[in-house]
Amino acid sequence: MIPGPIEFTPDVLRAMGMPTTSHVAANFIDVFGQAIEDLRKVFLAPSGQPFIVAGSGTLAMDMAAANLIEQGDHALVVNSGYFSDRFAKILERYGAVVTHVHASAVGGAPDLSEVEAALKSIKPKLMTITHVDTSTAVATNVKALAALGRRYETLVVVDGVCATAGEEMRQEEWGIDLALTASQKAIGVPPGLAIIVAGQRAMEAYRKRKTPVGSYYADWTEWLPIMQAYEARKPAYFGTPPVNLVWALQVSLKGILSEGMDARFKRHAKMSSAFKAGMSALGLKQLPISPDLLATTLSAVYYPQGVDKGILKFIDEAGVIVAGGLHPAIRDKYFRVGHMGAVTAGDIIATVGAIETGLSRAGYRFEMGTGVSAAQKSLQS
Ligand code: PMP
Repeated sequence: MIPGPIEFTPDVLRAMGMPTTSHVAANFIDVFGQAIEDLRKVFLAPSGQPFIVAGSGTLAMDMAAANLIEQGDHALVVNSGYFSDRFAKILERYGAVVTHVHASAVGGAPDLSEVEAALKSIKPKLMTITHVDTSTAVATNVKALAALGRRYETLVVVDGVCATAGEEMRQEEWGIDLALTASQKAIGVPPGLAIIVAGQRAMEAYRKRKTPVGSYYADWTEWLPIMQAYEARKPAYFGTPPVNLVWALQVSLKGILSEGMDARFKRHAKMSSAFKAGMSALGLKQLPISPDLLATTLSAVYYPQGVDKGILKFIDEAGVIVAGGLHPAIRDKYFRVGHMGAVTAGDIIATVGAIETGLSRAGYRFEMGTGVSAAQKSLQS
C-alpha cells in the first residue's frame, strides 16, 4: 500500500509476461493505437495528443519542459513540495526563468490569490501544478488553478503522477494544456512508461518554437509522427517501444474505462475517506492542514505521541507495506499510505488492521478495532 508502484491486476501482469512481439507486428500496432485512443478518454481530453514513451514520470516532466520552454521563457511553479521543486529544476535546465509560489506551511497548498498575483505580474508562458504532492498527500485545486491559467493566458501543465486515473481530473473541461503521469500509480501498470496528453494550445506552442528542442530523446518532432502512425494502425519506428508495457497499458486502460471515470473517481474518494476515518478514530492526525486539501489517492498520517518510524516494521510484519515520510522537514514524523488503482474495501480494512497491530506493538494505547470499525462504517455509508 505504498504510493507506487501499486498492486497490479492479474490481467495486467499477464500482459507483462506474454511473449514479446515485434514493435511493428500487426497485433501490437493495433494495441498501441488502441492505448493512444483510450488515453484521451481516461484524461477526458477528446482532442488531446497522447505520447506514450519508455521512461519514468520524470521523463514525462522533462518532455513537457523540453518541448514547451525556450531560453529565457518565464515559468511559474505552483509549489506544493518535493516534485514541484523537481519540475522547477527541469524547467531551468531548458532555460526557463522560474518563479515559485510556495505553500505557507508544510501540509498546505499555495494560495490562489498569490498565484493570481504572480500570473498578473510575471505573465509566464507556462505554469506547473503538482496535482497530488506525493510527499505530503496534499491535493491542489487544479480546477481553480487551471481557470486562473486560462484567464492569464499561460499554458497550464499538470503533474498527475500521483493522481491521474484516481483523483478527479477533467483535462479539456478544466482547461489543462498538458497533463502527464507515469505508469506505476493509478494508471495501474508496472514502472517504465512516461505518459503525456498535450492539448491543442500546447501543441501550438510547440509548433511555434523558434529554436530546436534541446533534448534528442524527448523531442516531439521525433515522437509525434510515431504516435500518429500507431493511431492510424501503421508501422513506425523512432526508439523501440517497451512492447509488453504498452500491451499492459492497453489492458489497464480498458479496465479503467469499463469501470468508468466518474465511478472510478468516486471509488477512490470512498476508499480514501474510509482509510482516513480509520486513522482519525485511532486519534492519528493527517498531514494536510485542511480537509479540502486531502488527496484521494494517498494519505499522509503523523505518528501519534510516543510512536516513531520503528512502527513501519511492525506494520510490515502484520502483512502490509506502507511508506515512510518523504518531506525533508518532517521525514521521521509521519508515514504514507497509497490507496489507488485497483484498491478494494478489503485492502483498506486489512491496512487499517495492520496499522492497529503496529500501533499496539509500539505501545500506543487505544481500543483494538476502533479504526477498523470506523473504516467499515465509512465504507457502508
Ligand atoms: N511527480 C510526482 C507527483 C511523483 O509522485 C513522482 C514519483 N513518485 C514523480 C513526479 C516522478 O516520477 P518517477 O519516479 O516515475 O520518475
